[in-house]
Amino acid sequence: MAVRPGKPVIGVLALQGAFAEHEDYLRRAGALPVEVRLPEQLDALDGLILPGGESTTIGKLLRRFGFEEPLRRFDRPIWGTCAGMILLSQEICGGLPDQLALNRIDLRVTRNAFGRQAESFTAPLDFSDLEEPVPAVFIRAPLAEPLSDRVQVLAEVDGQVAAARQENVWVSSFHPELSGDLRLHRAFVTSCRSGSEGHKLQAGG
Ligand code: GLN
Repeated sequence: MAVRPGKPVIGVLALQGAFAEHEDYLRRAGALPVEVRLPEQLDALDGLILPGGESTTIGKLLRRFGFEEPLRRFDRPIWGTCAGMILLSQEICGGLPDQLALNRIDLRVTRNAFGRQAESFTAPLDFSDLEEPVPAVFIRAPLAEPLSDRVQVLAEVDGQVAAARQENVWVSSFHPELSGDLRLHRAFVTSCRSGSEGHKLQAGG
């Protein structure tokens, strides 16, 4: 797909959670961020971020405002961070019985169960495409387990999935918008600029 001129317009779901920080990082990474509160806004976007926050609350609000089907169909790059990763997964453990799972990536996630039950910690993450590790901030992060080989693991911490992608669906169990590091946002912006065949972060160790 040809690279489009101008800044890519990237939505940040702004129903609850850490959306303002993502907007700031997107702006600094060369995109035009838009706060998304209604499904009608999705058509105009080159990409979308589902931020961290409380996945049960965000899921209820997504249903209430009619986002469920539009998000299952959204065909541009989409990046779920922490609670956003939970929402994009196929299967959720430790959630409400009818918690919204958009089934956009073949992952089983377990809420609030990362590592040694640590509430919050920072760890350097190696991505094979990036020369220096990303200082990743984990806040009550989910554990994630790939359910198919369509999931490409991009980074791990303590032997657990910390970042992954499946075609143009990206997920990270940490908060990239708190890392002080723009590289992942830049990679996502590049991918939104050129469609799903754009920049590919490769699986890392
Ligand atoms: N524990 C939260 C949830 O289950 C996610 C935490 C976060 O987004 N930082 O929704």
